Amino acid sequence: MEDPSTLLTKLGEDDLQVLRRLSSEGAVWIVGGWVRDGLLSTHNSDMDIATDLLPSDVIRLFPNSLTHGARFGTIGVRMPGNDRTWEVTSLRSEAGYTDGRRPDAVVFGKDIIEDLSRRDFTVNSMAISFPDGEFLDPFCGMVDLHSKTIRTVGDPSKRFSEDGLRILRGYRFKAASDLWTLNDGTELAMKECVRMINKVSPERIGSEIRRIIELPSGGNSIKLMQEHGILEKILPGANLPGHFHATGDISVDMALLYCDSEVDLKTSSGIIKDNLKLTKEEVSIFELLMSLQVQNALTSAEEVRRFHVAVPPDWKGKVVRYFESKGEDRSQILSTVGPPVAGTVPLVDGNELSEFTGLDPGIRLGRLKGHLHRLQIERDMTCKEEVLDCISEIDYVNGDPLDWDLLSWP
Ligand code: ATP
Ligand code: MG
Repeated sequence: MEDPSTLLTKLGEDDLQVLRRLSSEGAVWIVGGWVRDGLLSTHNSDMDIATDLLPSDVIRLFPNSLTHGARFGTIGVRMPGNDRTWEVTSLRSEAGYTDGRRPDAVVFGKDIIEDLSRRDFTVNSMAISFPDGEFLDPFCGMVDLHSKTIRTVGDPSKRFSEDGLRILRGYRFKAASDLWTLNDGTELAMKECVRMINKVSPERIGSEIRRIIELPSGGNSIKLMQEHGILEKILPGANLPGHFHATGDISVDMALLYCDSEVDLKTSSGIIKDNLKLTKEEVSIFELLMSLQVQNALTSAEEVRRFHVAVPPDWKGKVVRYFESKGEDRSQILSTVGPPVAGTVPLVDGNELSEFTGLDPGIRLGRLKGHLHRLQIERDMTCKEEVLDCISEIDYVNGDPLDWDLLSWP
C-alpha cells in the first residue's frame, strides 16, 4: 500500500493544470477511484475531483467542459488538445432520494466530510486536498482497503435503498479480484435490496455488467449475483454454466449464460437488448453464437474456409472465444486452414454464368451464382475454369434453386 502522502507526486502535468486552475478560486479535493487505486499502487486515469465551487464557476474556468450533469453538480472538465475528462463535482448536501436513483434536490454545500458521507463505499470515500495534500478518511477507508473489504458508508440497507446502482457497483468492485470481500452486513443488504434494481436504468445496468465481466474476477461476481437473486431480475432465465469464467465480451458472455437455458432465442435476444441496451451488432453476434451447434462446428476445412469468408473479421475472435469457453478447442484447424488462396470475390460473374448456362437473369441464375461462390470458397478454387467445371454437378435447368445453399456460416 502506498502512503497517502506520496499520492500527489503521481499527478500528471495535465492533472496539475486542472487542479491548479480550480484551486485558484476554491477548495479542491481529489476523491474516488483515483485515491483508492493510487493507494493500491494501481493506475487509474479517471480522476474525480470535489470542489466547493459551483458548477457555473467550473464551466467559467473550463469553457470546453461537458455540462449535461451540471444540474446534479458534475461537470466533465475538458482541456483543449487533451482527450481526458476530469469529473468535477460540487460539494453536495442534498435532500432525500424518492426515486431510488437520483437525489430529489441537489443543495450545494461547503463541507467535504458531509460530501464524503454521501459516497457509496468506505474505500471510495477518502479524499486528498489540493495543493496541501491533507488526507481525509472519515469512514476508515484505509482499514478496509488493507483488508480489501467492500463496506458501505453508513447503514447498508439505507444506502442501497437510496440508490440501487450502488448494489451493482458493489459487485463491480468485488470483481476486481478474488481478494476483495463484501462485508457481511453489506452483502446481506445487497441481497435484501434486490428490488432496487428496478429503479436503475437499463443503460446503467448494461454499463455496470460490461465493466463487471471485463474484470479478472467478473465471473465470480456474476455467480454471486445469481446466488443473491439479482441476476434473475436483470437476465431472467439465465443459466450459469458450472465453471463460468467471463470472457469480457458482452455477446459471448450472454450466449454462455443463455445457451443452456429454457428461454428461447427470441426471448433471450429481447432480454439482452432491452435490459442491458446491447447494440444491434452485439445482439446479432449473440444470435449467431446461440445458433451454433458447437460440438459439430468448425470441424472440416470446407467449413473453416466458409467461416473465414462469411463471418466479419472482428466477430471471428468472439466465435473462437465462445468455443473455448464451451471446452471446444479449434486452434489446430484454424491455424492450418487459412482463408481461401484466391480471395473472397466470386471468380465467375453473372454475365459469364448466363452465357455459359443460357439462363436468363432471375432467381435461378442468382442462386446458381451464389452456390458456385460457396463451392469456390469451400474447395479453395483458384481459377474460373475450376468453378465452371462444378456446374456439371448441378441440375441448373430443372433443379430447385432453393436447394442450392449460398455462402454463409454456419
Ligand atoms: P472508477 O472510476 O475506477 O470506475 P470510482 O470509484 O472512481 O471508480 P466513479 O463512478 O468514477 O467511480 O465515481 C466517483 C466516486 O463517486 C466514487 O468513488 C464514489 O465515491 C462516488 N460515487 C459514484 N457513484 C456513486 C453512487 N451511485 N452513490 C454514491 N456514491 C457514488
Ligand atoms: Mg472514477
